[in-house]
Amino acid sequence: MIYVLGTGRCGSTVLDLLLGSAPGVVSVGELWYLPSVLRVSIGELPGLPALLALEPVPKDSPKLLCSCGEPVVNCPVWTEVRRRSLAGDRLRELDLDNRYYEGFFSMPIAGTGWVFRTGRFERHLDSMAEVAHAIAQTTGKSTIVDSSKFPWRAWLFPLLLGRKVEVKFVHLVRNGETFLQSIQNHFDPNEPVSRPAPWPGWALTLFYGAQWVHTNLLSSCFGFLFPDRYLLVRFEDLSAEPAKTLDALARFLGLDVSDVRRRVEQGLPLSTGHVVLGNRSKITPVLRWTPPGLGNGAAPSHRNRLFRAFAGWLQRYYGYR
Ligand SMILES: [Zn+2]
Repeated sequence: MIYVLGTGRCGSTVLDLLLGSAPGVVSVGELWYLPSVLRVSIGELPGLPALLALEPVPKDSPKLLCSCGEPVVNCPVWTEVRRRSLAGDRLRELDLDNRYYEGFFSMPIAGTGWVFRTGRFERHLDSMAEVAHAIAQTTGKSTIVDSSKFPWRAWLFPLLLGRKVEVKFVHLVRNGETFLQSIQNHFDPNEPVSRPAPWPGWALTLFYGAQWVHTNLLSSCFGFLFPDRYLLVRFEDLSAEPAKTLDALARFLGLDVSDVRRRVEQGLPLSTGHVVLGNRSKITPVLRWTPPGLGNGAAPSHRNRLFRAFAGWLQRYYGYR
């Protein structure tokens, strides 16, 4: 299992695409959402989990589609994974326990489950391992890329070592100022896909800036706890020098990426696998590599000055000026 750590909008779709095209590897996107997506699709759950509540999702939402083009609930791979590991009540159980043990506020609950080895917690770990094995058996690939990204899910994976699931962490970090720009664009009425901003600009900067800081800080902890299992990748390096960054990833993960490199260099299509809940570009069965933009590089705005005031130290730690 390769677990991608980081914030939203850090470029994990691109990383999914590159790693998932290597032999023996399948990218599955945000695996944490799989049980919820299936339950929403069959009408068992009113919406997908958001930070505090369930967010209603229309039946035809792209969020319920697999990157192979089929709805997740009809995709042959996910149908087989569900049959092997989530039959009967296990689907509902995993969905509830994902939110109970791996939600934003869940680390104390999961920590208690771990310390006291509660039956429910052990069963949750069993289910996580069973889903991983079912994906490997169904796809015939031994390496799975899970880009759920939350660090509060990541720490459970080392506990699966006794259940025959190996894990390595790839922490994908993106310049906080470009990250905030991407959030701002999301709320920009001139953008093709936007929604109204819930708060004024400074409040968005504080909220999402704080999210950038604490998600990356927690993710960096894995580098100290598991130095042999952790690699930090900057999205900007991946975009500017994909071949060099791919080689570093290949050495760390023990993968053969020569064919992926060739495809990137020649502009040939890459495979997107069976990705659950990637971003909107996933709904194309094959994608070509196009180096993503690196941000505006504009003079510091009020927003960036505010962000630098409380997050500049972490930006510098990751090598951003
Ligand atoms: Zn599929």
